[in-house]
Formats: sequence, structure tokens, C-alpha cells
Amino acid sequence: MSNSNLVSYTRISPNKNSPRNHDIDRISIHCVVGQCTVERIGEIFAPESREASSNYGIGLDGRIGMYVEEKDRSWCTSSGANDHRAVTIEVASDTAHPYAVKAAAFSALLDLCTDICKRNGKKRLLWFGDKEKTLAYTPKADEMVLTVHRWFANKACPGEYLYSRHGEIAAEVTKRLAAEDKPAGTGDNPSAWAKAATEYCKRKGIFAGDGAGNFDWQKPITREQVAAVLYRTLERAGLLEALPDKK
Ligand SMILES: [Zn+2]
Repeated sequence: MSNSNLVSYTRISPNKNSPRNHDIDRISIHCVVGQCTVERIGEIFAPESREASSNYGIGLDGRIGMYVEEKDRSWCTSSGANDHRAVTIEVASDTAHPYAVKAAAFSALLDLCTDICKRNGKKRLLWFGDKEKTLAYTPKADEMVLTVHRWFANKACPGEYLYSRHGEIAAEVTKRLAAEDKPAGTGDNPSAWAKAATEYCKRKGIFAGDGAGNFDWQKPITREQVAAVLYRTLERAGLLEALPDKK
């Protein structure tokens, strides 16, 4: 299990359980109730007497700190069951309702959530906006679910500013994950037709393979086989009719 390389400051808190007892399938976003730096958040979580911590913190300037490694459970959400499966993030915020956060901190939060999902093999970040529904939900292997502190304790956390943006956060992160998942360079849905073309070539013996999972041309490859590959590829890309006839 890795940690985010977006982190620019690390001060590990003694307030944690090592290792966590559940795979990561949740993210819990909190508001600090103070416009502070990542160093100040680290200071807050340093004494054992504080009995609190988070995996990550985001300062008012958008810098990201780490206080508990992802492999460990932070003491953040007033729920051991949640914190054992969640990556927790404290975001510097105003000290009063609606506990607004700076634009730089919000932007860093989107980057961090995307990075956490990506490294943990998640393709979707989900927000149900409902405690019962969320806690009853079993995420699929590639799903990450947002939970909030106010469901587990009588608190305003993460504050209205962040709470009301949870749908937006989930949608934006999922959009970024989908964009990174797409192979570059071809058509509207390249993966679908490229996969079909690959299967066709394997079936027809055009790709012989090297026995180690890599494709390799059958040698020699005939003119008819090359033509068949080009034809099927152009057809699936919708480019067949676009080619001018040779006169
Ligand atoms: Zn909280």
C-alpha cells in the first residue's frame, strides 16, 4: 500500500492503529475549523494526549501533509469501523459556518482524492448523500465511497461548504479517473474496436504471440491478412467511407 506523492510535508502522529484492518474503500473529508498550514495540522496531531489524527491534511495554501500512512488507521471520524477502511483528509477551513475552504485547498482536495482512488485501483468515487444507504452499501472492487464525520458524531464536520460540494467532488474525481483510463490517440471509443481487432487477429493467426503474453506478427504475413486487418480496423473506426477511391 502506497502513500500519495502529492505530499510535501510529513509528520507521523502516534495516534493511529497499525496496520488498518480493512481494505481502503472510503474517503472521509473533514474541515479543520481553522485556516492553518500543513505544519500546524501536524503540530495538532503530534501529542498523544490529543487522541486524534488524519491520514492527510490540506493547508490553506493547497499544500498537502501526511500524518498517518495509508496502510494505518487514523483516529479521525469518531468511528473505528469507518477509519479502518477510510482514507481521512483534514482540510483547512474557516472557523465558523459554513466552514469555507480556500480555492487552492479545494483544488488540492480534488487532486488528492483522484490520486488516492487511482493508487487504490478505484475507477469511481461515489456520494450517496445518505447515511443509511451508504453504510449498507458494499462497494464493488473499483468503487470508492465518500462518508462524512457528522454521520458518526454530533458534529457539523465537514461543514456546509464541503458537505454541499460532495456530489461535485465525486463527479469531478470520477471524470478525471475515466479520462486517465482511456488509451490515447484514437477515435471515440478506441478500446472497444481495438480489442475486437486484436481478437480478430489472434483468431485468424495474424498475431502469433511470443508465448509471454506479448503479440507478435505471424511470419510471413500475407497481403490478404494485412488487408483484412486494415479493412476491419477502418470499418470499426468508421473511416471506411472516408477513404477516397483510387482512380
Ligand atoms: Zn471531522
